[in-house]
Amino acid sequence: MPRLAVLGHPVGHSRSPAMHNAALAELGLAGEWSYEAIDVSPADFERRVRAMEGEGFAGANVTVPHKGAALALADTLSETAREIGAANTLSFSAGEISADNTDAEGLLAALPGGSPRGLKALVLGAGGAARAVVWALLREAADVAVWNRTELRSQHLCEELGGEPVSAPDPAAYGLIVNSTSVGLAGEDPFEQLPLRRDGFAPGQVVVDMVYGDEPSPLLDAAAAAGAATVDGIEVLVRQGALSLREWTGREAPLEAMRAAARR
Ligand code: NAP
Repeated sequence: MPRLAVLGHPVGHSRSPAMHNAALAELGLAGEWSYEAIDVSPADFERRVRAMEGEGFAGANVTVPHKGAALALADTLSETAREIGAANTLSFSAGEISADNTDAEGLLAALPGGSPRGLKALVLGAGGAARAVVWALLREAADVAVWNRTELRSQHLCEELGGEPVSAPDPAAYGLIVNSTSVGLAGEDPFEQLPLRRDGFAPGQVVVDMVYGDEPSPLLDAAAAAGAATVDGIEVLVRQGALSLREWTGREAPLEAMRAAARR
């Protein structure tokens, strides 16, 4: 019976076990496969991961703060994981650990209207989530600007991956805006912390908030009220999870069942 898991620290809040177990049930695999959350400290991460295949694990998702360490210990890397510099999906087979990053493809799959090719995109943030978002949008030939509170980090990100660092963007000039900072996670006001105005959205724009929690996102509420299309962090989570699940099981993931479980 193959086991799957999400590794994080902390990880108790993760919606991945509910989401993946619902998917496995929907696929008729619940009797064979299972998915659990494992809290593992950074100091113990490598030892824990190397023991997993022997304990019956076929794969694992990796979340904060282990995405860099997951990349570093893998025997084989997908091109996506290598270029982004982080892995969120590990697979274990015949003593080998392979690493992939489905965050980038998950973001693209969540966007309404298909590829963002040619769109002017504003990415907020320069951490791990922003790296995957910038990489994905550039691969689709979007025109990407990156704003970050600490400007040096957005400059470094753009030197490494591409895109244009911006210090005072005009949000109205962008067809796509992605909040990939953690602003909103602890109830911070996005209109105080980010270069966005509550009345600054318009129909025709797509606004993505990677942050998700129990409360609705004030950012997405304001964007939707102005007629912009919105994508929340749960949809991005579902899409990256669906891609990971397909890698492990070879089956198309049941998106509706995953959404329902992740939103509960
Ligand atoms: P991270 O590496 O710690 O980066 C945090 C980012 O947020 C940095 O750019 C940081 O700016 C910025 N930031 C933090 N507090 C801020 C504030 N008060 N004002 C302005 N900027 C602020 O985190 P991460 O891994 O990129 O994750 C970011 C968020 O995305 C988290 O909430 C995470 O849960 C979410 N996420 C969601 C998904 C999904 O599937 N939905 C996937 C991955 C991540 P500085 O550089 O200036 O500190």
